[in-house]
Amino acid sequence: MKWEESKEEIIKLRKKSKHSYWYDLVTRGGNSAVMGAKKTIAATFYQLKSGHALIAKYLLRIGKRTDMKCWWCGHEYQTRDHLFKWCKRWKREQKRLWVDGQEGEEGYEGVEKVLKKPKISLPMSLVFAEEKCSQALMDFLSNTDVGRICGVEEEAENSDHEESSDGGV
Ligand SMILES: [Zn+2]
Repeated sequence: MKWEESKEEIIKLRKKSKHSYWYDLVTRGGNSAVMGAKKTIAATFYQLKSGHALIAKYLLRIGKRTDMKCWWCGHEYQTRDHLFKWCKRWKREQKRLWVDGQEGEEGYEGVEKVLKKPKISLPMSLVFAEEKCSQALMDFLSNTDVGRICGVEEEAENSDHEESSDGGV
């Protein structure tokens, strides 16, 4: 009897889990830059932050690809680092993210200025963890297809499921 009840609870929670990041964010007061952005970009942001996103490195890990080749520039290893720092396809957007930043009311400073280090010595995990950089990252995501377009038909939609079955990274 008890077990049946808890099972239902788990099922309910599972159904909600797709949006849990979003709800958590709202209840905790959230990160203003992320909150203001479109939900899809926000979702991509969190997927990339966790590493469970449409990047070749992750798709290889879950068996959706057989290599880590970058589908934009052909580089051998498409990692998060590659996409945000080095991929030739997004050079202009990378310059804005790391160096130039954006002017105006919705503006932000480049990540190198904010963290006072060159991009080569800044791991993406650190940049994603730093709230002061999230606006720049979100803007990069809105101006590129990073994390949204992939080289395989099926998307990494099941990442929630993956996480719970293999215990995460
Ligand atoms: Zn590339």
